[in-house]
Amino acid sequence: MLQITDQDLTSFNTLGLQAHARALLRLQTPDQLPELTRLAARHASVFVLGGGSNVVLVPNIDSLVVKLESRGVGIYEQTDSHVIVEAHAGEVWHDFVAGCVERGWNGLENLALIPGTVGAAPVQNIGAYGVELDQRFHSLVAWDLRKGRAVEMGAADCGFSYRNSFFKQAKPGRWLIVKVRFCLPRQWQPVLSYPDLQRHPVLAQAGASTTAQQVFDAVCEIRRHKLPDPAVLGNAGSFFKNPVVGADVLDAIRQAHPNVVVYPQPDGLYKLAAGWLIDQAGWKGRRMGPAGVHDRQALVLVNHGGATAQDIESLAQAIREDVERRFGVRLEQEPVRVG
Ligand SMILES: Cc1cc2nc3c(=O)[nH]c(=O)nc-3n(C[C@H](O)[C@H](O)[C@H](O)COP(=O)(O)OP(=O)(O)OC[C@H]3O[C@@H](n4cnc5c(N)ncnc54)[C@H](O)[C@@H]3O)c2cc1C
Repeated sequence: MLQITDQDLTSFNTLGLQAHARALLRLQTPDQLPELTRLAARHASVFVLGGGSNVVLVPNIDSLVVKLESRGVGIYEQTDSHVIVEAHAGEVWHDFVAGCVERGWNGLENLALIPGTVGAAPVQNIGAYGVELDQRFHSLVAWDLRKGRAVEMGAADCGFSYRNSFFKQAKPGRWLIVKVRFCLPRQWQPVLSYPDLQRHPVLAQAGASTTAQQVFDAVCEIRRHKLPDPAVLGNAGSFFKNPVVGADVLDAIRQAHPNVVVYPQPDGLYKLAAGWLIDQAGWKGRRMGPAGVHDRQALVLVNHGGATAQDIESLAQAIREDVERRFGVRLEQEPVRVG
C-alpha cells in the first residue's frame, strides 16, 4: 500500500534549496498508479518530482509530491535498422545512457552526464553537445492522473521543441511519464558538430573510426571541466534558456556588440548565447546574499549555502532586468518553479 510521508526535500533538489513537502508519495512500480489516482483526488494539486535537477522549490510545498521510482531497461522492438530501447521513469538518466553505450545501443552518448531521471528527460526535451532527445525519441507511456489511465504518445503528441514539450506546458501533476522509448540506429554515425567535440584531441585523432564510447567519455570529461558538480555547489544547470530572436533584434545588438555569440537557426531566426549576454552584463561570479552566478559559467546560478527559492529568484530577476535593459532581450527561466 502506498504511504504518504512528510519529507524534507533539501537533498531532493540539486540547487540544495531548503524545502519541505507535507505529503510525498514514492511509487516503485506502475501497478501502483491506480492507487495513486485515488489518493491524489484528495489533494488540491500534485507535483511530479524526478531527480530535482531542474526545479526551484519554495520552502513549503502544499502539493502532493509524487516520485516515480520504477526501474528497468530493455529492448522493446528490433528492426534491421534500429533498436528500440525502453526505460522506466525512475532510471537515472546518465546510468541509462552509460548502459546503452556499453551494450552497443548508440545514439544517446552526447547526452551523457545530464543529471536527473529518464521520466523527466522528455519534459524539457533535454539536449546537449549537438543532440536533443527528440532526435532519438520513439514513444512514451504516460499516466493521465485526471482520467486514471495510461496513454501511448508518439513524438507528435509530445510537441517537442527547444527545451520544451507538451508536458512542460501542461497543468503540473496531470501527466506522469512512466516509460520512455528511444529509437537507436544500428548504422550509427557520431554527432561531432559541437565545437568542444571537434576540438577534443581523442576524437580529432580517431576521425572516421570514432566510437560511441569515445564520444561518451569526451562529453563526460568536458562537462566535468565546465559545469559545477551539484554535490559540491548547488545548481540547476543552465538557469536561463538561450533566447531566440529575429534578424532586427540581432542587428541592433550587433551594432554595439559585433562579437555577439549567435547560432543561426533553420527557421531563419537566431539563437543567442544567454551565458554570453549575462557575462557581458558583468554578472559572472557575482553574489547576492547566498545566491550567486558561477565564476566560470555565467548561465549557472549557484547556492553558496542556505539559499531559498526567493534568494535565487531575486538574483535571476536582477539579471533578467539588466540583460533586457542592455540588449532588449528578455531571458526566460529554464527550471520549473514549484510552489
Ligand atoms: C549540473 C546540471 C547540468 C545540466 N545540464 C543539462 C543539459 O545539458 N541539458 C539539459 O537539457 N538539461 C540540463 N540540466 C537540467 C536537468 O538535468 C534536466 O532538465 C533533467 O531532465 C531534469 O531531470 P530531473 O529528474 O531532475 O527532473 P526534475 O528536476 O525533478 O523535474 C523537472 C520537470 O520534470 C517534471 N517531471 C519529472 N519527472 C517526471 C515524470 N516522470 N513525469 C512527468 N513529469 C516529470 C517535473 O514535474 C518538472 O516539471 C542540467 C542540470 C544540472 C543540475
